[in-house]
Amino acid sequence: MEIKFIVDNNVGKLAKWLRTMGYDAPLFKEKDDGKMVKIALSQDRVILTKDTQVMKRRAITSGRLKAVLIKGDAPRTQLEQTANALNLDYQFRPFSICLECNHNLVEKSKDEVRGLVPTHVFMTQSKYMQCPSCQRIYWQGTHWQAMNKELKKLTESSGNEGGSRL
Ligand SMILES: [Zn+2]
Repeated sequence: MEIKFIVDNNVGKLAKWLRTMGYDAPLFKEKDDGKMVKIALSQDRVILTKDTQVMKRRAITSGRLKAVLIKGDAPRTQLEQTANALNLDYQFRPFSICLECNHNLVEKSKDEVRGLVPTHVFMTQSKYMQCPSCQRIYWQGTHWQAMNKELKKLTESSGNEGGSRL
């Protein structure tokens, strides 16, 4: 079964990285931890948080709900910790989830994005994805390449996948 997350606001940068990898990772922006726990339970999501109080909730201590207590401030360290704890695949399903709003992207043909993307992009890119919610169009430009390169590096430094390093 595919792993899904709910990302506490105190580790918000993780959400974007997880979406880049292709994981369903909405951000929880409210203050009410109880509500976050409820959502996680009802939608079968793993909580990522820095808040030790959240970890003391009964749903988590009893093992009914999975949560990872994130340590450290650097997003890269946080990402490695999450990936190691849950055996995530850095190359899971890249280019499939909207980085802004966490919706699944839909593939678009070159003709469909004509006039909607800058000319230099249209000339050089052939694969496009669009978010049905915020309408943002994605292509594998330099920003995406940079993030993907970072994820590839992490894959290599994590050694052979399969074994947990914790
Ligand atoms: Zn979107």
